[in-house]
Amino acid sequence: MSQLAYRRVLLKLSGEALMGDEDYGIDPKVIGRLAREVIEVQQAGAEIALVIGGGNIFRGAGLAAGGMDRVTGDQMGMLATVINALAMQDSLEKLGAKVRVMSAIKINDVCEDYIRRRAIRHLEKGRLAIFAAGVGSPFFTTDSGAALRAIEIGADLLLKATKVDGVYDKDPKKHADAVRFDKLTYDDVITRDLQVMDTAAFALCRDSELPLRIFDMGQPGVLLKILRGENIGTLVKG
Ligand code: UDP
Repeated sequence: MSQLAYRRVLLKLSGEALMGDEDYGIDPKVIGRLAREVIEVQQAGAEIALVIGGGNIFRGAGLAAGGMDRVTGDQMGMLATVINALAMQDSLEKLGAKVRVMSAIKINDVCEDYIRRRAIRHLEKGRLAIFAAGVGSPFFTTDSGAALRAIEIGADLLLKATKVDGVYDKDPKKHADAVRFDKLTYDDVITRDLQVMDTAAFALCRDSELPLRIFDMGQPGVLLKILRGENIGTLVKG
C-alpha cells in the first residue's frame, strides 16, 4: 500500500536541470541522479509523468533575439524538448523502468504521439510517461505544457523543480532579506506579482485549481519527501 500524500503527479524539469555544471547539453551524471529519484518515487507507489524543457539546447525567444524567425526558433525549442525526453527515457530504462515518450508534435519514428487516454493508461500500467514538445505550438513554454498535461491526466499536484528552493517575495540572489513563502494562494501570486511560472501556465493552474509546488530538485531525496507530504518549497493552491 502506498503511504504517499499524492497518487498521481506531474514533475516539470527545466532543460537547464539536465546540464549540471555544464553550459549546454546534458550531463549524464545529473540525468542519472534525477532518473533514480523519479524511480524511487514510483516504487513508493506514485504514478509519475514528466515534462522536460529544452532551455539547455534551444529556446525560441533566444534564437529570435539572434535574428531567427520566432516560429522556427520555437519549433527548434520543441525538438530540443524531444531530445531531452529521449535522454531521460534512456536513463530511466537503464535503471529498469518502463517509459513512454509522448510528443505533442508528430515524430512517430522516435516516440509516440500524445494521446490523453493512452497516457493515462501508461501511468495506470506502471509506466512512466514523458510528455515532450510542450503544447505543440509556438509561443508557448513547457511550463504551459506541464500545466496542461497535469490537468488533462488528472494529476493531484504539479511539481515544478527549480534552482531556487521556493517562491520569495523578492529575488533571493539580489536581496539578502528576501523571505520565502511556505504557502500561497493563486490570488496572492497575482496581487503580489510573484514569478512562479509564465502567465499562461499559471492561468491554467488557477482556472483548474491544480495545486503546484515549487522546489529545489538539488537536494537528494526531496521528491520522495514531498510525495510523503513534507512541506518543502512553496505550495500554491486556492
Ligand atoms: N516551446 C514551444 N511551445 C511549447 C513548449 C516549448 O514553442 O509548447 C519552445 C520554446 O521555444 C521554448 C523551448 O521550446 O523556449 C524550450 O522550452 P522551455 O523554454 O519551456 O524550456 P525550459 O526553460 O523549461 O528548459
